[in-house]
Amino acid sequence: MTSIKPQPGLMDIALYVGGKSHIDGVANVIKLSSNENPFGPSPAAQEAVKRSVHELHRYPSTDHAELRTAIAEVHGLEADRIICGVGSDEIITLLCQAYAGPGTEVIHTEHGFAMYRISALAASATPVEVRERERVTDVDSILDACTEATRLVFIANPNNPTGTMIGMAEIERLAEGIPEQCLLVLDGAYAEYVEGYDGGARLVEMRDNVVMTRTFSKLYGLGGLRIGWGYAPREVIDVLMRIRGPFNLSTTQLAAAEAAVRDRAYAEKCRDENTRLRAWLAEALAEHGVPCDTSTANFVLARFGDTEEAEACDAYLQGQGLIVRKVGGYKLPNCLRISVGDEASCRRVAYCIGQFKAGAR
Ligand SMILES: *Cc1c(COP(=O)(O)O)cnc(C)c1O
Repeated sequence: MTSIKPQPGLMDIALYVGGKSHIDGVANVIKLSSNENPFGPSPAAQEAVKRSVHELHRYPSTDHAELRTAIAEVHGLEADRIICGVGSDEIITLLCQAYAGPGTEVIHTEHGFAMYRISALAASATPVEVRERERVTDVDSILDACTEATRLVFIANPNNPTGTMIGMAEIERLAEGIPEQCLLVLDGAYAEYVEGYDGGARLVEMRDNVVMTRTFSKLYGLGGLRIGWGYAPREVIDVLMRIRGPFNLSTTQLAAAEAAVRDRAYAEKCRDENTRLRAWLAEALAEHGVPCDTSTANFVLARFGDTEEAEACDAYLQGQGLIVRKVGGYKLPNCLRISVGDEASCRRVAYCIGQFKAGAR
């Protein structure tokens, strides 16, 4: 086997670790580790899933026309600039496959989403990490890190796991300043949580070097079904369509996503509830001496005094049946990322952190 070798970079990939969902010996856990919608998907999407069982002997559409039309209508976009994928993860993968490769660089930020590095390495490209400023994307650091070899710049806005975001003027400055051979990818996994923010869609339409990715896994509560999409210049869509699998999305995925995006009232209700509970949670934690940056997403990043305290709190919470996310892998070892759950879960996690800070172990 010694002469059979994988492509360069592949053995540098550390396996992605998802949020925990079980605690040994605890039956009714509250899972706040994967930024899932605590209310689940829209009832209309659930009905669409059930109806789809009657079509499972048929191959799904290859052009995703109905879903793209629905997304375009709801978000006010152009349907022929949309590409749908198996989660936004697939769009990220396709972008790296298409535009990165051996000898090229892919920029991501210090506390950026793990999939950017993984997908860059999977394409045998070199991931380049740039520092953030106090857990906020720093446009100047990114521009300083750009070279002739840079092909892609990934930023999540709002970012995961920090929850912070930068304004449109900064994003425009970034799009303007990157080298001409480089694409800027705006990961909008949490864009729906920000009222009045289009995730960068208008910028995509105005420029030829900006791509936006979106997902049904967060606000739409369909993480288990794996559906995402991208919005890009037509030239980029043309490239990505050549490499994506023709039947990448199943009949069930397509039907659920279409129903979910069309149920605007449900999406709005989930967003408003998240906004209300996120503010409540951040304030309750602050009262217990645990600060959070202002989050614009469906989680907060709770900062502890040091790594030891964060780990002790995580262990204490697990003992109470609560699962949150350790983010040491994101260079934030003194923090815990806590998804905004339903009201009872928010109260429970805030109460337990209060007990922990008061000396419970
Ligand atoms: C959750 C998340 C995604 C979504 O990934 P899917 O593959 O669509 O489930 C993308 N980017 C970021 C930053 C995320 O946190």
